[in-house]
Amino acid sequence: MATVALKDVTKVFPDGTIAVDNVNLDVGDGEFMVLLGPSGCGKSTVLRMVAGLEDPTSGAIVLDGELANDLAPRDRKIAMVFQDFALYPHMTVGDNIGFPLRLSGVDAEPRSERVADVASALGIGDVLGRRPSQLSGGQRQRVAMGRAIVRRPGLFLMDEPLSNLDSGLRAELRAEISGLTRELGVTTLYVTHDQAEALTMADRVAIMRRGVLQDVGTPTQVYGRPATLYVAAFLGAPRMNLLEAQVYVHLDRHIALHMGEQTLYLPWNDIRARAVAHYHGERIVVGMRAEALVPVPVDTEGDVLRGRIRYLEHHGHESLAFLDIGAYAVIVDDIGGTPPEVAGPRGLRRFGNLVKRVAGRGGEQEL
Ligand code: ATP
Repeated sequence: MATVALKDVTKVFPDGTIAVDNVNLDVGDGEFMVLLGPSGCGKSTVLRMVAGLEDPTSGAIVLDGELANDLAPRDRKIAMVFQDFALYPHMTVGDNIGFPLRLSGVDAEPRSERVADVASALGIGDVLGRRPSQLSGGQRQRVAMGRAIVRRPGLFLMDEPLSNLDSGLRAELRAEISGLTRELGVTTLYVTHDQAEALTMADRVAIMRRGVLQDVGTPTQVYGRPATLYVAAFLGAPRMNLLEAQVYVHLDRHIALHMGEQTLYLPWNDIRARAVAHYHGERIVVGMRAEALVPVPVDTEGDVLRGRIRYLEHHGHESLAFLDIGAYAVIVDDIGGTPPEVAGPRGLRRFGNLVKRVAGRGGEQEL
């Protein structure tokens, strides 16, 4: 069993860089937690502090319920996989995988049995006699994984382990890694800046920005109900539409969202109306995923925005339409078979993913 908890963890480097700013995070036993964020946001520093390769400036690293700040890396029962697999070039695959066992004094026979088991689980049983230079990138990555799991660690720490591979192999290996860690029941903390990797592999995703933890939740939660505007804009391609609106709760029990030149009317019994009702008189930001916007005929009444198609972008399996809706441009997924040469007004119905107040009580949120 292995759990990880970071409590008020801050890391300030000697040059004054605040790499990690008061982060609190719990990783459950057997959980696959992905740390996601842009380059330089502090993900690797978090991982290195959990590994014991970096000391927190303040706060607690708790492993299995015990304060681990002063625990040496080798006493933390963790295995780390980095992006530059760092295999020993002069050793065979089998010796590379078995190396941690040799270090801890496991005899040759049980060692080669364990190596064979691990190699076969990773699909590299037939290359045990080769050297790393005789392997493909994907095979080398599997060897690195094998070397990490051979000691049956309670906790896996992985720092962008797939970033040096081509995209096809990355997709294949991400399924393998998440499958394998689940099979082994190993708690995993996985760092990446690739949101597709994060959303497909994680049980939960922790999103960081400039050292600060922005949101933690299942992929569905952080995608559908982002905690901050930053997360709303960061996750998803195309980017979520974010429109400012002024909220008015009308006496006849409907809600009007004034957005630039347009007003969106929501009936009171609409779940989205209730979500914004308590912002009466305030300016909020409404978040709408492209796929949540549905084109409807121009004469449709009700909760409809009107826009003019500026251009269409074809992506093979889908088309994105970029529309002007007065003060704003929005992106709509699949405009409903409209041929590219037709640019006309469209009504847009239905929006989801309501986001946050920007102004008023909460103050402006910086994107
Ligand atoms: P990447 O995805 O590029 O690896 P990251 O999110 O993992 O980025 P970190 O490597 O944790 O980011 O770095 C966080 C911040 O701390 C960055 O601004 C980085 O420049 C800084 N930093 C990292 N190591 C040191 C160090 N030893 N001394 C000073 N600053 C550092």
